[in-house]
Amino acid sequence: MRFVTFEKGGLPVPGAGFGDGRWVDLAAACGRLVAGPLKHLAGATTLAEMIGSLHAAPGAALDIIGQALQHGGDLVVPETSLRLVAPIPRPAKNVFCVGRNYLDHVAEGDRARGQATAPPEHPQFFTKPPTAVIGPGEAIARHAGTTEKLDYEVELAVIIGKAGCNIPADRAYEHIFGYTILNDITGRDLQRRHGQWFKGKGLDRSCPLGPSIIHSGSIGDPQSLNLSLSVNGEIRQSANTRDMIFDIRTIISVLSDGITLEPGDIIATGTPSGVGFAMDPPRFLQVGDRVEAMIAGIGRLSNPIA
Ligand code: MG
Repeated sequence: MRFVTFEKGGLPVPGAGFGDGRWVDLAAACGRLVAGPLKHLAGATTLAEMIGSLHAAPGAALDIIGQALQHGGDLVVPETSLRLVAPIPRPAKNVFCVGRNYLDHVAEGDRARGQATAPPEHPQFFTKPPTAVIGPGEAIARHAGTTEKLDYEVELAVIIGKAGCNIPADRAYEHIFGYTILNDITGRDLQRRHGQWFKGKGLDRSCPLGPSIIHSGSIGDPQSLNLSLSVNGEIRQSANTRDMIFDIRTIISVLSDGITLEPGDIIATGTPSGVGFAMDPPRFLQVGDRVEAMIAGIGRLSNPIA
């Protein structure tokens, strides 16, 4: 199962499907096809408000999508005739992020700065504001004059499905609704200048997200996914999620220690090596570039710089 948000009549609409190029209008389908646990989602206007219920009743979600695809008509829209936006276009709170979570990325950062640091002993968290989120195909803002060192970071993003606080690591997967791709666009000069990372990583239109959320039941092991990123077709990053320093279970357990996670919350799990600032010489993003972030089994998130 996959979940998206698409535009219909100029409005964002929650959608779902099986990745075959057709998307079901999920709120309309819930209203017309079912009497079960998802009936109350009829008329829901955002995917974020549906996630908790979809997470609690995955069998019912599967049924609705199947029924809607069979029913056809105005409940089903071919992907070629719609525009996908970010699956959660306006998160209710900031996007949680983990920095320095792949050893080779920590090492390249040290090399670029001519210093040696120890790998983190605890996950290093920061956030990106909701105003940073954009969808597939939408333009990343160049912010010339604000930053001269705009950079990319491909990351696996976790979408929370069930609320929880103090979640033990061995129960963490029970709280995950699904996974998507996130590009943690960063102004490196701002990141350095302000010490704390929020300013350099919080710029408007600096958080491409999508194109779809793949349901946790459809992806296999999230700690063995190849992830990569290209700029204008040139591969810059290529790694596997098994190389995370802190795995997904640990991230959720530590983050939720004293902080309630809620359905629709987004957690970016860090980036591997190959970022532009660590290249010799450094290579930063410019207007006209196209950045494509890819994760095997999830898809491809492509955005121009404008
Ligand atoms: Mg990052």
